[in-house]
Amino acid sequence: MATSPSPVEHQTHCHALWEVDRPLSSQKGWNAGQTGPGPRSPRFPLQLSYRRGLELLQELRALQFDKVVFTGVDPDQFCELEVLVGQAATLGLRPALALPRLSLTRSALEQLRVAGLAEVELRLDAPTASRHNAITGQSASFRLTIAAARMAKRLGLALHIQSLVNSETLPCLRETARLAEKLGAEVWSAVYQVPLTAVEACSMLSANIVEESFAVLAELARDCRFELRTRYARHFRRYELQQGVGHKNPEVLPWRNGQPWREPVDSGPSLYVSHTGEVFADPMLPISAGNINFLPLARIYQGSGLFAILHNRTMLKGKCGICEFRELCGGSRARAYALTGDWMEADPACSYEPKRTRPLMREHLPAGDGSSRDLRV
Ligand code: SF4
Repeated sequence: MATSPSPVEHQTHCHALWEVDRPLSSQKGWNAGQTGPGPRSPRFPLQLSYRRGLELLQELRALQFDKVVFTGVDPDQFCELEVLVGQAATLGLRPALALPRLSLTRSALEQLRVAGLAEVELRLDAPTASRHNAITGQSASFRLTIAAARMAKRLGLALHIQSLVNSETLPCLRETARLAEKLGAEVWSAVYQVPLTAVEACSMLSANIVEESFAVLAELARDCRFELRTRYARHFRRYELQQGVGHKNPEVLPWRNGQPWREPVDSGPSLYVSHTGEVFADPMLPISAGNINFLPLARIYQGSGLFAILHNRTMLKGKCGICEFRELCGGSRARAYALTGDWMEADPACSYEPKRTRPLMREHLPAGDGSSRDLRV
């Protein structure tokens, strides 16, 4: 079953994130403590069984997903991960691993590579140990991340590094991205904060600062060897398009050395399955579309209102609903939900004013006032 991993596929748009298990488990995999033959014993009442997990992979392939990212599992602890990776590879799904904890051994990662693992995803939020560890709250996190990245590259695995973007990390974003490049990352994702707590809300960037940060991303996309993606910042697509449109010669803004400009890709999954089988559109959008313990995945993915509405941008509210870029962008539904309680509302991290709002603003200005505001429209 051995395969030689290929570089991260640039066309990968449709991938699923599957939280196979919850970390901090004292047991080793689904079958822990079980001796002899017999049915497997999931530790949580609704935790997906081993058999249902294998079926899930088949269902993802049948729905034409091209990649599955396993998360929530510690390769040294979870015995069945190797089988799941092998099954995914056999089905033609590109298997990737997002590591919740970093104390993995080379032998565990090597076994997964032999089983078919193609890619490793790591989180790197700052270019120095003190800053990264302070942000992640884990004292050895930086050292372990660097070690895991080097191990993955030595084993020939593709490397995808994700970096949080907020007020703490923005000042060193360039250096963080350069370190990701130095580590050999094929893909680097700028993950804009979706605040789930009051503390996170304080460190979220304002819409204007987000817009300014896009200039840094554009510069990195142009100069670095990795493929740059964003997460929870789909409006970077709008920014890039606006910048590109402003030039008569499209080669003024090459996407990467000598390559023609092309639409940046959002690195978020199209589907997230929790360890108990709940299906979500995104791990940061806690609205379940159904549970695969009770329904086939296809029925949930193709039949639930959640995905139908998400794919129908005409139902967006606020300025996202009338924005001329809504098909290209659509804003972050997770951030809209976190900050307004309504996942169809406008993305609060976007400062763009759609053309259709501009005449309205003018109409509502009192007579004889607003000449300075008129300059904006
Ligand atoms: S207003 Fe909404 S759809 Fe338009 S660019 Fe901003 S986030 Fe995207």
